[in-house]
Amino acid sequence: MTTADSSDGPQRFLAPHLRSLGTTVFAEMSALASATGSINLGQGFPDTDGPESVREAAVAALRTGQGNQYPPGIGVAPLREAIARHQERFYGQIVDPDTEVLVTAGATEAIAAAILAVVDVGDEVIALEPYYDSYAATITMARGMRVPITLHPPDFRVNIEALRAAVTPRTRVLLVNSPHNPTGMVLTDHERTAIRDVAVEHDLIVISDEVYEHLVFDDRQHIPLATLPGMRDRTITISSGGKTFSFTGWKIGWAIAEAGLLNAVRTTKQFLTYVSGGPFQYAIAGALDLPDDYFATLASDLQRKRDLLAEGLADLGMQVFPPEGTYFITTDVAPLGFTDGMDFCRQLPHLAGVVAIPHKVFYDTTAVGQTLVRWAFCKRDEILIEALQRLRAITPATSP
Ligand SMILES: *Cc1c(COP(=O)(O)O)cnc(C)c1O
Repeated sequence: MTTADSSDGPQRFLAPHLRSLGTTVFAEMSALASATGSINLGQGFPDTDGPESVREAAVAALRTGQGNQYPPGIGVAPLREAIARHQERFYGQIVDPDTEVLVTAGATEAIAAAILAVVDVGDEVIALEPYYDSYAATITMARGMRVPITLHPPDFRVNIEALRAAVTPRTRVLLVNSPHNPTGMVLTDHERTAIRDVAVEHDLIVISDEVYEHLVFDDRQHIPLATLPGMRDRTITISSGGKTFSFTGWKIGWAIAEAGLLNAVRTTKQFLTYVSGGPFQYAIAGALDLPDDYFATLASDLQRKRDLLAEGLADLGMQVFPPEGTYFITTDVAPLGFTDGMDFCRQLPHLAGVVAIPHKVFYDTTAVGQTLVRWAFCKRDEILIEALQRLRAITPATSP
C-alpha cells in the first residue's frame, strides 16, 4: 500500500503524513488493460448497466427538473424514505428517514465522512485486513492509526482472539466490511455476535461497510451489525446503489446511524461535497423499491458467474477460494510457479491479455497476501469465457 517518498519524487508536494498513499493500483491496472487490449477483471464494475427502468427514472428526473439544483444536504426525501423502507423490508430495521439517514457521494464519501468525524489524531481503528484501499487513505487523512485483523486463506474467517487482543485504550472504531472485499467472506452468526460483544464491552463505534449486502450466495443471509442488541446507537451502516443496481458511476451512497452519531457524519460530509447526484438520487429511490425478484435474480446470476469463473480458474491450476459474497474471487497463483502476485498481475496483460488485482495492495503488514490475486466476475458470461480461454497461455506446459 505504500510507495517511496523520496523528497524529489512524484509525491514531493504531498504533506508528509500523506506520502504513503501513492496512486491506487486500480488506475495502474486499468491503464494497462486499455494499453494492451486486455479483458479487465481488475476493477470491480459490471460491464452491463442496471435496470432500464432505473435509467429511465434518472432521465425523467433530469427532464422534469428533479434534483437539477442543490438537493437538501441530507439527501432528497424520497431517497431517504426509500432507504428506510429498504432497511425495514430486508432486515426489519426501523430507521427515521429524517434524522437517521444521510445521502452521500457513494459509499466512499460515507466512509471518509464517518472516519473524519469520529477519529482523532492517534486514535486506533481496527479493520479487517486485506482492506478496501479507501480505508487506509481516510484513516491516514484523519491521522488515526490502522490496526489490522488479518483474514487468512482458505476461508478468511475472523480471528476473534486476535480481535480481542487488538483492542487498546486508544481504540475508537471497529471498521467492518461484510460481505468482504476482496476475500468474499461473509460474517457468520458467531463472528457477528463476537464483534458485537467486543464493541459493547469496550464502548467502540462500529463502521459497517455493507455495499455488497445483496450479493450473498448459497442461501447465506446478510444481517446488518446495527440490528444486533446493543449496536443500534453505536453503528454507522454504510451502503450504496453502485453495486446493488449496477450503476457504479452514479455514486449514490448513504450512511445510517442513530441521530446524534449521524449528525457527526453529516458535519464532515457537508464540507466534503455538500451534496451530489441530484437526479440520480430520485432514480435510486425508485430502484430500492424494486420487487424482491430483482434482488434474488441479481444474487443468483452472480452466483452462477462465480461458479463459472471459479471452475475455470481451478482448471488452470490455481488454488481457488470461492467467495461467499461480493463479485470477487481470490486465487493463489503460487501453484502456477509465481512467487509474487504483483509481478503476476503486471505480467498477465502481456502474457494473456487479462487484468487482475494483486491482494498485496490491500495489506499493511503481512506476507499473507503475497501470492493472492483478485478476479472480478461481474462481467458478461462470454467475457468470462473469453478471459478463461486467454488465460490458458499461462498454464505451465504439461507433457502430452
Ligand atoms: C465499491 C466499494 C465501495 C465504494 O462504493 P461507492 O458507492 O462506489 O463509493 C466501498 N466499499 C467497498 C468494500 C467497495 O467494494
